[in-house]
Amino acid sequence: MKALFAPARTESGGTLAVEELSVHFGGVCAVRSISFSVAPGDSVGVIGANGAGKTSTLKALTGLVPRSGGRVTLGERDLTMVRARDMVRHGIGYVPEGRHVFPGLPVEKNLLLGAYARRWDAETRATLEEVYELFPVLREMSGRLAGALSGGQQQMLAIGRALMTRPRVLLLDEPSMGLSPILVGFILDNLRRLREEGLSLLLVEQNAKLTFGATSHCLVMENGGVAMTGTSEELSRDARVRQIYLGL
Ligand code: ATP
Repeated sequence: MKALFAPARTESGGTLAVEELSVHFGGVCAVRSISFSVAPGDSVGVIGANGAGKTSTLKALTGLVPRSGGRVTLGERDLTMVRARDMVRHGIGYVPEGRHVFPGLPVEKNLLLGAYARRWDAETRATLEEVYELFPVLREMSGRLAGALSGGQQQMLAIGRALMTRPRVLLLDEPSMGLSPILVGFILDNLRRLREEGLSLLLVEQNAKLTFGATSHCLVMENGGVAMTGTSEELSRDARVRQIYLGL
């Protein structure tokens, strides 16, 4: 199969490193000094129960919520002070929880909005083609309003829109939420494909099975902190993880 999104990968952005990141909401500590990294081409998962601090970690990483401490770097570049809206220019693509597509705009307009930070040029057109190749249903539906798409199709649209920025690292918050098992399998196949092509992924999920299948390493978050880390294979064999997160 033809490799998609290859040009972005050749200009490697270096390792995404998060050091001692903390988030407080008033008196509540949502994230307690956590550190992790995503090497180029690596795929890292963050699993944890409701309220463990996964979304706060992603939002603090991108600057969408204020950090009470910590540092974010991509390769040599310090992104700690970069505003959320400028993260995309530094190669950080973000697929938010709940998709947040623009329901009143056609599918293709939604995708092109993902490329707002770039000039409309041959590369943008080529990236759009690559997104359509990855998710053929989006091409079929390109003129339809995004609000008319099913939940699974909207999730593909949200991922496609983030890919339009040609990210060096793609952050995904609960892409499986609300999807049927068949669509979760489809999303998993596509995350694996992006990973095989060398795109760096940081996947935040409650669905541990999906996460272990799509990533090489994982963190298990509990009460805002990192409770365990390991390869996804090791963790998927761990008795405690199997009981709590896989229900086995
Ligand atoms: P979920 O899987 O439900 O999204 P999560 O692991 O992503 O859970 P967070 O959403 O990061 O967890 O929440 C971590 C903690 O921070 C929770 O106690 C939550 O109630 C609290 N919290 C999150 N956002 C806010 C906010 N804007 N204001 C106050 N407290 C918040």
